[in-house]
Amino acid sequence: MTENFEIYNALPQRLLPWYGENARDLPWRHDRDPYRVWVSEIMLQQTRVEAVIGYYDRFMKAFPTVMALAEAEEAQVLKLWEGLGYYSRARNLQKAAKVVAFELHGVFPDTEETLLKLPGVGAYTAGAVASICFERPTAAVDGNVLRIITRMTADARPIDLNATKQDIAARLKAVYPEGACGDFTQALMELGACVCTPKSPKCESCPMQAHCKAHAEKKETAFPVKLPKKEKRVEERTVFLLCADGRYAVCRREEEGLLAGLWQFPNCPDTLCASDAVLWAKDAQPREIIKEVRRTHIFTHIRWEMTGYLLTCDTACAPYMWATKEELENKYMLPTAFRMFLSDLEA
Ligand code: SF4
Repeated sequence: MTENFEIYNALPQRLLPWYGENARDLPWRHDRDPYRVWVSEIMLQQTRVEAVIGYYDRFMKAFPTVMALAEAEEAQVLKLWEGLGYYSRARNLQKAAKVVAFELHGVFPDTEETLLKLPGVGAYTAGAVASICFERPTAAVDGNVLRIITRMTADARPIDLNATKQDIAARLKAVYPEGACGDFTQALMELGACVCTPKSPKCESCPMQAHCKAHAEKKETAFPVKLPKKEKRVEERTVFLLCADGRYAVCRREEEGLLAGLWQFPNCPDTLCASDAVLWAKDAQPREIIKEVRRTHIFTHIRWEMTGYLLTCDTACAPYMWATKEELENKYMLPTAFRMFLSDLEA
């Protein structure tokens, strides 16, 4: 625990004044309301700040309080999340809002341990909310923070390992500055996002430069070290854009698994040739294939290689719902993997 202590110890002293002068004006930094900070932290997981701002503003307008989110229709929550991906985040957000609103009488948990009991709240989010909103000395260790620390300390342990994260979190916790815990958490995040960036760190303007081992050795991008990536599984799918009387067939996905419960265009595994696709859609009495398109969508562990057929049909048959292009754009929550076919539909 004593190794690199001087480097860790220098962090608050150097980072806090730098943050005071360089913090970006972001909508979730206007106050320290735990509901607003929590929503922002969940949205920011796996998603860039620039992409989140619009979603965050729309979400807060629709659900300004934890009670408003707890009482909302799930379909509206998912619609406002559309395009952000990782939809279980939105579902868990609402589940946790219900716990806070109905079981905890609207009072947010204020410690790392109690925050961790909320659905969808992991070590990072609990650390962020506890420090930013309640001034607890709890580190929020995400990819940004791991990058800064492993570079500063030339730490070659793979950051994918829990042991690495837990050790770094414990060492950070030991130097959290009393009375400025929230600013320290945000300063670390800001340094990782704006200065100690993955490919071209701006060491010349970094307040930690004098304490950085990777910089001294000119090995900045050698850190962080990651375990070898697993190859993504490739799945071929055929997607049916069935059109009857200006309406398109959609159906719900299974309640479990990938994109659980969201809307989709009918689809099946493998790449069907045009004649097999017509046969597959026979219940809708297909007339002709108007268009054939290819699309790729990448999930965390899988890559979908999709062939889409735009097929005119005579019957708006069950079990599908049939919706206009406008309804699909504005009313239905179509995940990006299927939304990318909307531009192929005719209005
Ligand atoms: S000196 Fe460079 S590598 Fe080191 S923490 Fe600063 S930006 Fe990152």
